[in-house]
Amino acid sequence: MIKFNIASINTCTEAEGPYKRLCIWFQGCNIRCPGCCNPDYQAFEARHIMSLEDLIEVIKEAKTQFGIEGVTYSGGEPTCQQNLPLLTKEIKSLGLGVISFTGRMYEDVSEILEGCDVVLDGSFKEYLHETKRRLLGSKNQRIICLTERYKDCIDNWFADHNKVVEVSVGSKIIANGDKF
Ligand code: SF4
Repeated sequence: MIKFNIASINTCTEAEGPYKRLCIWFQGCNIRCPGCCNPDYQAFEARHIMSLEDLIEVIKEAKTQFGIEGVTYSGGEPTCQQNLPLLTKEIKSLGLGVISFTGRMYEDVSEILEGCDVVLDGSFKEYLHETKRRLLGSKNQRIICLTERYKDCIDNWFADHNKVVEVSVGSKIIANGDKF
C-alpha cells in the first residue's frame, strides 16, 4: 500500500499560498534548521499514517466542501515522503494546483517534486529573516514556478513586484527577494 506519514492537515486555509488551499504538514525532516518553526515535525516517527486513497478522499472532500484551488505540502520535509510524485499526480488529476516547500535545493530533489506547480526551496536561515515575501521564512529561499499556473501570483500574492528579482533557469522562473 502507498502510505504517507502526516503530522497535520488543514482542509481549508488562505495562509499557505494563493487562494483557498488544503495544507499537508508531513512528519519527518533531517535538515534540522536552527530556528525551525515546526520542530515537532522533525522526528522520523509514525504520526498519522495515511494511504494514498484516504488522503485523496480528504482532498476531494475539501474541494467539494470549500472549493479549494490547490494543495500545499509543508513540513517536516515533503521530499522525505518517497511516494510524493504519486500523490502529486493524483491531486493534479483533480484539477488542483500543488505548491511544495522543501528545505533542500530544488536541483537536488527535482525528481520527487515532479508535477508540482511551484516549489519554495532552501533551508531556513534565521540570520536571513524574510520580511517582504509572504510564506517564505528566509531570504535565501526561492520561489520556483515550474508551470504557468501561479506565475502571476509571484507579483500579486507572494510579493510586491518592485521587491522581486527574477532570473531564468532553463524554462523555469525563479523569483528571489534579494540576490545571493
Ligand atoms: S527544512 Fe523546514 S521542517 Fe526541516 S528543519 Fe528546516 S525549517 Fe524545519
